[in-house]
Amino acid sequence: MRGEAQIVILAGGLGTRLYSRTNGNPKPMAKLVNFSLIEHQIRYCASLGFSSFAILTSYKSELLEQHVKSIKLSGITIEFLKEDVARGTAGALLSFASQLQKTIIVLYGDTYLTVDLRDILRSYYYERRTESFIGTVLVHPNSHPHDSDIIVVDKHNWIKEVIPYPRLNDQSSRNLVNAALYVLNAVTLSKLTLEHLEKDKTDIAKDLFPYLIRKNYKLKAIHNRWFIKDCGTPNRIDSVAEMLTYPGTNLNSQQPKGVVFLDRDGCVNEEVGYITKPEQFKILPGVANGIRILNKANIPLICVTNQPVIARGEATHEDMHLIHSKLDYELGETGAFIDKIIYCPHHPDTGFAGEVKDLKILCDCRKPSVGMALEASKHFKIDFSKSWMIGDTTTDVQFAKNLGIKSILLRTGYAGSDRRENTVPDFIFDDLMQASNFIVFDYPRIQDFFKRRINILLDKQIIFIGGKSRAGKSTIAKVIQKLLHGLGDDVLIIPTDNWLIDPEQRNDRMRLEQKYDLQNLNEFTQNLNCGNRPIYASVDHRICCHDSSVSQPITIFKNTKIILEGCATSMIDLDIISQGIFIWVDIDEDVRKHRFYKKYFQRGLCEKKILEIYRDRVQHEDEVLEQSRELFDIFWRLE
Ligand SMILES: [Zn+2]
Repeated sequence: MRGEAQIVILAGGLGTRLYSRTNGNPKPMAKLVNFSLIEHQIRYCASLGFSSFAILTSYKSELLEQHVKSIKLSGITIEFLKEDVARGTAGALLSFASQLQKTIIVLYGDTYLTVDLRDILRSYYYERRTESFIGTVLVHPNSHPHDSDIIVVDKHNWIKEVIPYPRLNDQSSRNLVNAALYVLNAVTLSKLTLEHLEKDKTDIAKDLFPYLIRKNYKLKAIHNRWFIKDCGTPNRIDSVAEMLTYPGTNLNSQQPKGVVFLDRDGCVNEEVGYITKPEQFKILPGVANGIRILNKANIPLICVTNQPVIARGEATHEDMHLIHSKLDYELGETGAFIDKIIYCPHHPDTGFAGEVKDLKILCDCRKPSVGMALEASKHFKIDFSKSWMIGDTTTDVQFAKNLGIKSILLRTGYAGSDRRENTVPDFIFDDLMQASNFIVFDYPRIQDFFKRRINILLDKQIIFIGGKSRAGKSTIAKVIQKLLHGLGDDVLIIPTDNWLIDPEQRNDRMRLEQKYDLQNLNEFTQNLNCGNRPIYASVDHRICCHDSSVSQPITIFKNTKIILEGCATSMIDLDIISQGIFIWVDIDEDVRKHRFYKKYFQRGLCEKKILEIYRDRVQHEDEVLEQSRELFDIFWRLE
């Protein structure tokens, strides 16, 4: 691909907003971590094999030229084209179009990018056969859509309209903005003059593109999560610098990365049955914060939602567009965005009045089928082994299972009470905010901690996980299970609460050891320790906050590693264990108390009653547990 296209950098702007960072030098000279913005661009493009550059300058062009010439790179040619009077981005491009190569990739001098330019060029070449085709435009959602140029596309991604900023209270457009990167046909452009645009100073997005659209030239939008960010203000340049230095951030556009799939109704917005109009759509509290956490970590967020209302004829694609525009707008107000929303409009059952016959089919995209994830993989390079699904129904959990990705059930919306699928989520959290925090911060920390102790975990046949109630034992068990699964171990988690005695014989004033059938638990553990398998265990299938369990017996095979998890691990007879490792899960007492209160609050208990139970527990359970703490081998505490 070398030499096939020329990189054109628009570097003529005054850069007033970046003055504090440039001391009056041209904007592309502003420093981002170790290099100037323009040096990043040139080095990046050269690394992809592009060797021909044209830099369109105006303001203090000599300074910029000097700076660029000081960049030591061999094998590239850089041409400087200087405008005497600045006529805007479109003005500059049109003035010099006849001196450029036929195919040009246009960059703005104040952006930082790791876009796969070879890929975007391939799609440009693919469309070249289309009549009146003039170029491709990179689009994406961003955190400030209200002051960005919005690109409106048809269903085949041909650009219909450019809505320039500032836009006040426009809730009818999706958050799809001009990412400021184009591949254009310079030969066609060279036939246009500024007179065509009827202005002295003209902008590519605001003037040239609308003109081209009016004249029936075809511009294609490319929607992708390639990394490109505007660094035109001190705030923006700082946030990009922060991302570049953020541990664990993967900005490499060529490498597949983990994404988060997210269900819509009941997770993002209130679950109120079928939604057919924007007025019925109300974002849940904390959702914008949760989404921003993922945005900041640069993890693509893809909303996948079943919308059979369309097949039922109760809502149209246009209604869906308006609902999602409202969602985009309200998130955009708070600096949050969803990368892509994919919905399944189908429904398998026919026989409703007003239904759309064509959509009444058994499709591949209705969850728990995985069609929408496959659709997403056309736009994002997805590493499924690092991806997540967050939902509020068993259908969402099953979707994750079918894809082989990690699942999180939220206690919002249906909170798993739909019971459509017989499946168990990997993790359960109260809301999206908790889930995002877990994905971005806690999960990697827990994984790192146990990765460093992996040899001892691999070595032992039984892993005991203990600690006080609500400390997060089952979460730790799940992370360890995933870790060992990844290394080829077959691991089964068995909660010791399976050995709780009959609820009718239990009460809060009993001592901990009275609440369990310890004799039976010890016998079971002894059998495991001696390798007496296959034996049968009852594996807890607790679905969610309702705490209703469906237990089913399963066979444990000889090579299966067992994680026994729960408070009762503290009371197992240590004399019978030779093959085990004990992990204690600790937590800040205030956080634990808060979780405790929340659990009983959700069950409808009053504060006074909850405090009573809490005190009983501290007295009857926590003391026993605290005494056993020193017998454990590994201590985990989330800070
Ligand atoms: Zn479908």
